[in-house]
Amino acid sequence: MFIGVDVGGTTVKTLLLIENEIVSFETEPNDTTSEKTVLESIERGIAKIISKEDILKVEAIGLSIAGQVDSQNGVLINAPNMPLKNFDFNRYFKKKYGKPCFVDNDVNCAAIAESSLYPVDTTQIFIFLGTGIGGAAMINGKMLRGANNLAMEIGHMTHIDGGHLCGCGKKGCYEAYAGGKSLNRLYQEVTKTKEYMNIIKIEEGALNRDKHALKIFNEAVHALSALTNDLITIFNPDYIIFGGGVIEHSKTLLDSIKEYLKSNIRFADLSKIKFKESVFKDRSNAYGAVLGYIKNQI
Ligand SMILES: [Zn+2]
Repeated sequence: MFIGVDVGGTTVKTLLLIENEIVSFETEPNDTTSEKTVLESIERGIAKIISKEDILKVEAIGLSIAGQVDSQNGVLINAPNMPLKNFDFNRYFKKKYGKPCFVDNDVNCAAIAESSLYPVDTTQIFIFLGTGIGGAAMINGKMLRGANNLAMEIGHMTHIDGGHLCGCGKKGCYEAYAGGKSLNRLYQEVTKTKEYMNIIKIEEGALNRDKHALKIFNEAVHALSALTNDLITIFNPDYIIFGGGVIEHSKTLLDSIKEYLKSNIRFADLSKIKFKESVFKDRSNAYGAVLGYIKNQI
């Protein structure tokens, strides 16, 4: 029996896994006022899926969080949207519940979950399009982590040098052209509207010939296509797996990317690459955090 926790900027999602089956899944608002309130939100989330007595039967807790982590030691180093820094979750959960804790970043957790659906001895690339853009690479069952667990921050690779300003402070990142938050900001800036423009609205606008929406949507398609093309050139993958709200809600994005690749891809054989979409969706982070522990994916 395992507990999976996905600590997001607004919501804590918890699940209970028994014999590799998700038997319970709950959400709880995350109060990010302070370190204490975040921990209380996590504990409330856990209390929703399991009683105090049954926690004794749990083997371990897997925790997914948006930020930089030291997954070897179960420590969160830094989370941009939360008041936690250098927080030792492994020590905290051992003290609180007497259980070890595996911590990983949210994108890696989602990749571990989705990766479990495909053959291990393959090269799998993950592109997650939500408010930002994240990526992961799983090569023959092993996550590519880099020297400081910072590999595959693909959203901040440069698409157009000196281009749109990105949330990271740099100009021209892929995320500045195709991240959900950037799409909204670009539209609001040019039209002076206050309405929040998510991908569904931008895409609808583009289909209805709203010239601002069309320009922003086309730029996003171009950025994502170029990014996917670059990743294919680097990794020569068997699988490319797309996830995140922007992809899930878009009707045409994936097809547009494939269309671009048909005429722009070099070297790799497009017909041999398997394009997939996320299966676990909003459960992928918490489920992947548990699988990461089970498969010793650190
Ligand atoms: Zn950036």
